[in-house]
Amino acid sequence: MDKIVERIRQKASDISEQLVAWRRFLHQHPELSFEEAATSTYIQGLLNECGIPYRSGFARHGIVGLLSGGISSPRVIALRADMDALPIQEENECSYVSRNAGVMHACGHDVHMTWLLGALVILQDLREEWSGKVKFLFQPGEERLPGGASAMIAEGALEDPVPDCIIGQHVQPGMPVGVVGLREGMFMASGDELYLTIRGKGGHAAMPHLCVDPIVVAAELVLALQKLISREKDPFVPAVLTIGRMTSPGGATNVIPSEVQLEGTFRCMDEDYRKSMHKRILEMASGICQANGATLEMRIESGYPALYNDPALVQRCRELGTRYFGGEGVSEIPARMTSEDFAWYGHKVPSVFCRTGIGKNESVHHPRFDVDETCLAAGAGWLALLAMRI
Ligand SMILES: [Zn+2]
Ligand SMILES: [Zn+2]
Repeated sequence: MDKIVERIRQKASDISEQLVAWRRFLHQHPELSFEEAATSTYIQGLLNECGIPYRSGFARHGIVGLLSGGISSPRVIALRADMDALPIQEENECSYVSRNAGVMHACGHDVHMTWLLGALVILQDLREEWSGKVKFLFQPGEERLPGGASAMIAEGALEDPVPDCIIGQHVQPGMPVGVVGLREGMFMASGDELYLTIRGKGGHAAMPHLCVDPIVVAAELVLALQKLISREKDPFVPAVLTIGRMTSPGGATNVIPSEVQLEGTFRCMDEDYRKSMHKRILEMASGICQANGATLEMRIESGYPALYNDPALVQRCRELGTRYFGGEGVSEIPARMTSEDFAWYGHKVPSVFCRTGIGKNESVHHPRFDVDETCLAAGAGWLALLAMRI
């Protein structure tokens, strides 16, 4: 019998009602990125009640603390949970539906905070079972550039002491409770935002020869940008470029507008390729505008880097996942082109980001996203085991 796993499971089950209450409170009171004041106050209150020491004020509302195990050792393991919600009007009809109009924990960050709080309580109760220190980070602003992670790092969250590694855990819809999804190496993409304004010369739609039609230039440009992906890129290099918004402040059935704005995203998993593409997007866009007599204004907002999972840590997670959830409980999952600011921590210390099953299927960022709350105890116990034994 796996004694430590049994003890953690028991503790997680003992606090399961508490976990549900915490998660429901957080779910009812979601706050947007970098505005997580009440969330931070709530977590600090719980930490105070549990006698867990911390410092607040990182990246505005972030919290960093240190918990000591009963066995002395230089070992330091960091755990991170993000805190922010999204500008989405919740459409669920549960008793714990969001009370903040137009704001919703639709990415499961309420669950991430609950998992971390639960893990801390378990770690504290079982402190004689583990060595060294666990550093914990409640991080604001994951959903909005520039993200809270880089600010937390700049403000010293990973110093004094520097952790040996850092672990993040994200909800995974479509995966049962009691299953953890792992992937070693490149796991998530970098994400950069593209903002382009094409200026032509507006006029009567029946007299295009007297105008420079920015709509036609924009149409050409959207297709040309796709060629950077389909024709210039090595097919074995994963990347995506999407123009998700194309608007004009003017124009009508009989009016050629003077301006078109494009917004989009560029994602990939290779830093050299990423840099070269920033240059090529600008060359392609300015070349097409120039050839058509239009002018271009362009801005690329660099987002999060690609997320790399340390292979040795992933292997440890597989072993521990098998111990905690059984052989069926560890799933190898594909890489994805979404991005996560947890990636920044991996630039400082070895890191692993895993995805944990929540027993419901609605995707994250959807107004009907929800979780099966039995995932709370499962994820808290799993995170505690990782902190003790990785
Ligand atoms: Zn999200
Ligand atoms: Zn998220």
